[in-house]
Amino acid sequence: MEKHNAVLLLCTGGTISMSEDPVTGALRPVNFEKIFDYLPELNKIGIRTDSIAFDPLIDSSDVDPSIWSKLAHIIYDHYHQYDGFVVLHGTDTMAYSASALSFMLNNLSKAVIFTGSQLPLGVLRSDARENLLTAIEIATARENGRPIVPEVCIFFEDTLLRGNRTTKQNAEHFNAFCSHNYPPLAKAGVHIRYAKKFIHYPDPQSSLSLRTRIDQQVAVLKIFPGISEKTVRAILEMPGLKAVVLETFGSGNAPRQEWFRKALSEANDKGIILVNKTQCAVGSVEMGRYETSLDLLKAGVLSGMDITTEAIVTKLMYLMGEHSSTEEVKKLLQTNLCGEISLEDEQAYLGPLR
Ligand code: ASP
Repeated sequence: MEKHNAVLLLCTGGTISMSEDPVTGALRPVNFEKIFDYLPELNKIGIRTDSIAFDPLIDSSDVDPSIWSKLAHIIYDHYHQYDGFVVLHGTDTMAYSASALSFMLNNLSKAVIFTGSQLPLGVLRSDARENLLTAIEIATARENGRPIVPEVCIFFEDTLLRGNRTTKQNAEHFNAFCSHNYPPLAKAGVHIRYAKKFIHYPDPQSSLSLRTRIDQQVAVLKIFPGISEKTVRAILEMPGLKAVVLETFGSGNAPRQEWFRKALSEANDKGIILVNKTQCAVGSVEMGRYETSLDLLKAGVLSGMDITTEAIVTKLMYLMGEHSSTEEVKKLLQTNLCGEISLEDEQAYLGPLR
């Protein structure tokens, strides 16, 4: 396995860059230069590590699409100068940012690895050191002259996951992320073992293109027993709204009250895109399996299949930003663009990494 030796580290903020405010005691981002003070190893690993820090550094709860666009532009502008990219980011919205970048960096052929930590770098038991050093190793790993993982990924604790399949699952333990519907792309132990058959490769005939136009007119409507017509209509009738992710029960089921079906049909007739995403973490939407999803089909609701909420929200924003035709957006929603959904024949759980 060959190694190249230049990585660009993009620091947006997050716990990894934080320390306690002396007055409030709350964690907030501090000076990025401290990272190099705490991690002298960075100068010794034989990989040139250049860095760009956002100013100000932010808690990822403050991330918005302008941050995704800024990250994508920096990566695009420096694409040929580095073997790979590592993005330091807060864990709270890391899965949204990684999903958005997977769509914005079209036909990516180098690794973009998001990581962060649950404890700040300066804390003795911090997970930051291992996460960052392994992320750098993965971002620069090559075989036969090519990057091993040419994808936007999240590396955390010991696992490399496809970014647009990932969800934050844990605010307490170091294994902050999971990917329920797609296997890990690598496991880091004594060796870093890659699951090559699950890695998504770019089209060798095309090169990287940047697609950063975003349309934020998306809402998420989580269904629950007893949800009122007023709540549903307040969302579906929001002025300017273009798409709604319906978070449904089980394999994509919802209440069968007449007002609910009517509200959805009216929204669909107005051209609002409706996508069915199950509230279950594992498995896929299967409309028509139960009677309780037949009305959704009739109302024109599309299946989100086994996509995560993070990926469907960012995919909608991205597709609506890039395409003015609703029909085109609907078609591409049902298309696997960069590994974010399993089409029907691939939907069975693919099994753990061996
Ligand atoms: N609130 C922090 C953030 O997302 C949490 C973290 O980094 O883990 O920025």
